[in-house]
Amino acid sequence: MLKPGHTETLEEQCAKKGMRMTEQRRVIAQVIEAADDHPDVEELYRRAEAQDPRISLSTVYRTLNLFEEYGLVTKHDFKDGRARFELIPDEHHDHLIDIRSGKVIEFRNEEIEAIQDVIAKRLGYRLVDHRLELYAVPLEAERDKK
Ligand SMILES: [Zn+2]
Repeated sequence: MLKPGHTETLEEQCAKKGMRMTEQRRVIAQVIEAADDHPDVEELYRRAEAQDPRISLSTVYRTLNLFEEYGLVTKHDFKDGRARFELIPDEHHDHLIDIRSGKVIEFRNEEIEAIQDVIAKRLGYRLVDHRLELYAVPLEAERDKK
């Protein structure tokens, strides 16, 4: 299954990089690909295990680390003590984290993208990458408190 904004499936990318694809790695690759919610290892394990009960948590760990080493998935730390994983998107995006519910919202803002380039340039650098995480509470919840 191909994710929107991606030109190759994770399995295809693994194959291209010369990774040996076992049946279990294939299942884990498909589970990551199907996710749009930045799951952590345990959640990915639950989903993979539902498809193939022989998959162990340590296999999921090792496979995720392997995918990360090969530059196929990215790890996020959204400050809740759990490492979250997602495919490396073809198009860069940033994240807003709802600290009440843990919900993660993806966004891209061209003004932010542009200003970061400017800041780097002023400091004498060419920007090659960045991460931006906004931690927020819903406005609705704030209003209810008053
Ligand atoms: Zn994301």
